[in-house]
Amino acid sequence: MAGSKPSADTIAAISTPPGRGGIGIVRLSGPEAGSIAVQLVSLRQPLEHGRPRLADVLDAEGGGVGHGEAVRIDEALVTWFAAPNSYTAEDVVEIAAHGSPVVLELLLRRSLDLGARLGEPGEFTQRAFLAGRLDLTQAEAVRDLIEAQTLTQARQAASQMGGALSRRVQPVKQALVELIALLEAGIDFAEDDVDVTPTDEIARRIAELTPALTGLEASFGRGRIVHDGLTLAIVGRPNVGKSSLFNRLVERERAIVTATPGTTRDTVTERISLDGIPLELVDTAGLRDGLGEGLAEGLPEGLEEAEQLGIARSREALADAALVLVVLDATQPLNDEERRLLTAVEGRPALFAANKCDLAEAAEEVGGARALRTSALTGEGIPALRERILALATGGAASEPGMLTSLRHHQAIATALAALGDAAQANANAIPHEMILLDLYRALWALDSLTGQTTSDDILNLIFSTFCIGK
Ligand code: GDP
Repeated sequence: MAGSKPSADTIAAISTPPGRGGIGIVRLSGPEAGSIAVQLVSLRQPLEHGRPRLADVLDAEGGGVGHGEAVRIDEALVTWFAAPNSYTAEDVVEIAAHGSPVVLELLLRRSLDLGARLGEPGEFTQRAFLAGRLDLTQAEAVRDLIEAQTLTQARQAASQMGGALSRRVQPVKQALVELIALLEAGIDFAEDDVDVTPTDEIARRIAELTPALTGLEASFGRGRIVHDGLTLAIVGRPNVGKSSLFNRLVERERAIVTATPGTTRDTVTERISLDGIPLELVDTAGLRDGLGEGLAEGLPEGLEEAEQLGIARSREALADAALVLVVLDATQPLNDEERRLLTAVEGRPALFAANKCDLAEAAEEVGGARALRTSALTGEGIPALRERILALATGGAASEPGMLTSLRHHQAIATALAALGDAAQANANAIPHEMILLDLYRALWALDSLTGQTTSDDILNLIFSTFCIGK
């Protein structure tokens, strides 16, 4: 586990993404990293910690037919990081060559011939973790940073990488360990006149532990959506302005994020960043009359096959979406179909826009007061719509340092809280301290699993396998 002995073998992997690039990097880590690098390329100067060195990448087999003379096929920069001052805390060598898959694969293949082993996904970061350079939340943050799609996600990952989450958990753990020590002492030295901790003292100490943990647990509301994002389905009958609103919402952010092409001809999907929260907008463009009915009462009969398919997909989009934006037409009274649609989304996190308000009388009200007046044409109400979407998405929760972002973290905190609850209950019922200790150890175990101190190898391997090779 953390802080254990260094790895015996040396791993190698291409650390840059597959495909061609301006540069590409082959990374080596382990005791033989330096000696393999020296044989792998022809260095123009000796390796020195932290200093890039020019080197020639030679192709031993390519020197003209029959000549067997080495030919230079690339120039590379080789940087050596001496243990323990490296990412993995082992000897690390990074070889930056031109980003040709052919050159990088040649370097990798030769590293393997020289005794390195191909690194598993996430193995560099796993080694950093095993060496105690990073705790588990920090290692997970490396993966989150690499996968970040918005700047807010990157900032969140960077703060977790800096230990923000661990710092929030540490004082709770410390206080818990002190309480455990107190009870253990009472048991171990019961005959030596050590005072048994009074019930109300135990109750007070347990109560002091919980607010920090419930605060952390609550931060998952915002942390989860920063991490995973949300889907918003835009629904309504044809021609109310769904696509126009979709485009309005997308236009400003489109440059920031990667566009996902629509998966079907009936729905168009685009990913935007709303105040840093990744939001997938689904425009159910192919939505046809009968959707409300379809939702409330099953598919209406007698529709063309294609139309049925369209409705089925719109229903799917609705079912999958965390949030719904119902678009109504401010110039028209509600029709039956729309009333059915409103019934169908009842009880779900939904927003209502009375669109085309530029055409409607100011006094006119569609769908009750809860509908926000918007105009996709003039842009009126669009900033307010963004704000409402954001408020609905976050439930009003603000960003904070050290938020819980993953289900794994959330489960650990929830387990710790439940165990503390059991301990408090046992204490109130005057149950022997040995039994209270079992609950307290369970809470400690859960908190330790967050930082990886008590996480089994199987689970660790599972976590690191979600990384890419070379990370
Ligand atoms: P959809 O079928 O619900 O996706 O509706 P569209 O976005 O395709 O819009 C239907 C028509 O209404 C188009 O001609 C739009 O230009 C027009 N439209 C959409 N929003 C507005 C609006 O706010 N005001 C006005 N005046 N026209 C709009």
